[in-house]
Amino acid sequence: MSSALLIEDLVKRFATGKPAVDGVSFDVPAGEIVVLLGPSGCGKTTTLRCVAGLEHPTGGRISIGDRIVSEPERGVLVSPRERDIGMVFQSYAVWPHMTVYQNVAYPLKYRRSSGGGDIAAKVRDTLELVGLGDYAQRSVTSLSGGQMQRVALARSLVYRPQLLLLDEPLSNLDAKLRIRLRDELRRILKQTGMTGLYVTHDQSEAVVLGDRIGVMREGKLLQMAPPDEIYNRPADPFVANFTGASNVLLGKVLARSGDKATIDLGAAGRIEAWTPQPLSPGDKARVALRAENVRLGERGPANAFSGRITERRYQGMQTVYDVEFGGQRVEVLELGTAARHTTDGEIALTLPPDQCWAYRDEGQASVD
Ligand code: ATP
Repeated sequence: MSSALLIEDLVKRFATGKPAVDGVSFDVPAGEIVVLLGPSGCGKTTTLRCVAGLEHPTGGRISIGDRIVSEPERGVLVSPRERDIGMVFQSYAVWPHMTVYQNVAYPLKYRRSSGGGDIAAKVRDTLELVGLGDYAQRSVTSLSGGQMQRVALARSLVYRPQLLLLDEPLSNLDAKLRIRLRDELRRILKQTGMTGLYVTHDQSEAVVLGDRIGVMREGKLLQMAPPDEIYNRPADPFVANFTGASNVLLGKVLARSGDKATIDLGAAGRIEAWTPQPLSPGDKARVALRAENVRLGERGPANAFSGRITERRYQGMQTVYDVEFGGQRVEVLELGTAARHTTDGEIALTLPPDQCWAYRDEGQASVD
């Protein structure tokens, strides 16, 4: 599959501070949606703005289709208007003095590359696609936020750009609408076969919308992979922590063979874990683990311990337990409306080896 977007070693430095984007490389094959995910300030918006041409990169190369649109080393910089991209932002960028129809028809009238054809039919089809078929003659100012965002989306889709850039398009909507539009956005983008680069700090959006997710931190791309890989095989302790593996056990590497490591947890004993890193015996290690992956009240074939529940927090749909074992402490999440365990006595717990991820302890994995 050809790349609709190729980013090679992109660097963007503003006048002060560390580079906002620091050697980022990835590609987006035609028809795929890539989501850049990361905390505020990690450089995801700057990356997107460099692709749009709204920011001038300091180094590296950006190609859209077969065309290099930015390569500062060779003095190449194609203007945003000539990049054949569509953009949807957080703010609903619609023209308030126009109707829904006029807003969506506008780019077809003013773009050279819109391919001609019947403007009315294209606008009608696109409004149907985004669920606004009955709203063509309405003034956009009479619409809700969600509907305005649909207009903005329709306006970016109607001329079928090579690439659609979306920067936190759902973040001004209330929680319920946000979820609905998120799910619908996936359908719309897939139905049109659109290639998309989507920026968000919201994990659920990233997982639902992304064919692949790129997790960024401090200007660097830490991992680019399909959502299930990001969640089950985080390549980096920050990725594990950012996507919710909040338990951390500290220890020392005893042995490693391929992607399996044995970690000494001191008084608690040893634990088997998966590792993406070439750990060596003696290295300080941190083992990350999701609260929902701990099996409480079960003694599995490996990584079984005996512990004590020190606190139980019933939350209606789930219960959270603090469990101590051998000087270590983990939080355990049990789904369901019935809390099965009490704080009395000893309890078995199993930390499945496949769901324990070991990394070199560099003391920097916290999101906070
Ligand atoms: P957010 O979700 O808050 O927008 P982000 O991950 O998209 O965050 P960027 O907006 O790309 O992050 O910012 C990355 C870094 O670059 C930040 O440290 C930010 O302060 C800095 N930065 C962004 N734009 C500028 C600018 N115009 N001038 C100077 N520094 C900037």
